[in-house]
Amino acid sequence: MTTAARIDGTAIAREVRAGVARRVARLAAAGQLPSLAVILVGDDPASQVYVRNKIKACAEAGIRSLHETYPADLSEKDLLGRIAALNADDAVHGILVQMPLPPHISAQRVIEAIDASKDVDGYSIESAGRLLAGLPGFKPCTPWGCMTLIASTGMSLRGKHAVVIGRSNTVGKPMALLLLQADATVTVCHSRTPDLGEHTRRADVVVVAVGRAGTLTADMVKPGAVVIDVGMNRDAGGKLCGDVDFAGVAEVAGAITPVPGGVGPMTIAMLLSNTVDAAERAAAAQGLSS
Ligand code: NAP
Repeated sequence: MTTAARIDGTAIAREVRAGVARRVARLAAAGQLPSLAVILVGDDPASQVYVRNKIKACAEAGIRSLHETYPADLSEKDLLGRIAALNADDAVHGILVQMPLPPHISAQRVIEAIDASKDVDGYSIESAGRLLAGLPGFKPCTPWGCMTLIASTGMSLRGKHAVVIGRSNTVGKPMALLLLQADATVTVCHSRTPDLGEHTRRADVVVVAVGRAGTLTADMVKPGAVVIDVGMNRDAGGKLCGDVDFAGVAEVAGAITPVPGGVGPMTIAMLLSNTVDAAERAAAAQGLSS
């Protein structure tokens, strides 16, 4: 019986953030202080927590953050106007609009309004197209964080079989593309896949992004596989848990991420990294050297 290595997302995110802080210091010394605008519309408590965490992480890395909060009845036109102003502001390098937005505002229109050079969430169609085409651009933070976690195990993805469960535009699909770019053979499963285990049992890497606890159990995992759990759920007792039966799968897998302390901290770390990328590109365009 094996016990999987625990992939410590908190520690790996700390390293990523320390690297970001060093790059921020170099940029600041060259006269370019990286800056992220974070927009929150409405008073959803979970969104307020996410925004607070992002702002705190920016401060710790030395990134300037502009926090803008608007009431839930803000019109789409006014939000788009605000984004246009931030697009035009050279002192702002990244723009993030916290999702979900109130139903009267089109999330897609808002995302597309963000200048591609400031789309640090990597959600726009241009960023998605760049990822698809293998061109440089912003990678969505959660899948990019998962790639960093997989790399931390020392496993080379070349020629390996990776299975992604979930096909959302923000997690599952970009995850599959990133794995493909790393030369893995990729299978994408979803709610219409008749037998998940048939696929996952052949996988060297399984990334689960479903939003349902207990989606991946020990009998579905090949011994030694790397298991990345993106899910964020509450169990019956209200405790945060992932999509993977951690205790069972840890007896079979070679390495596994816990929830909390796995993918979650990486998402924010990659957001900071994308913001510094944006500021570095802006500095280079202005002829500033860092
Ligand atoms: P989503 O948009 O709801 O997508 C869920 C995906 O799971 C869909 O593709 C769906 O298939 C698939 N699915 C649902 N039930 C299934 C089943 N029984 N078997 C196989 N596939 C099934 O969710 P998301 O935004 O990708 O997020 C997924 C999870 O990750 C959520 O728990 C979310 O909270 C979490 N998350 C965590 C972070 C983080 O930073 N840790 C970031 C983002 C998301 P269909 O397409 O067929 O409906």
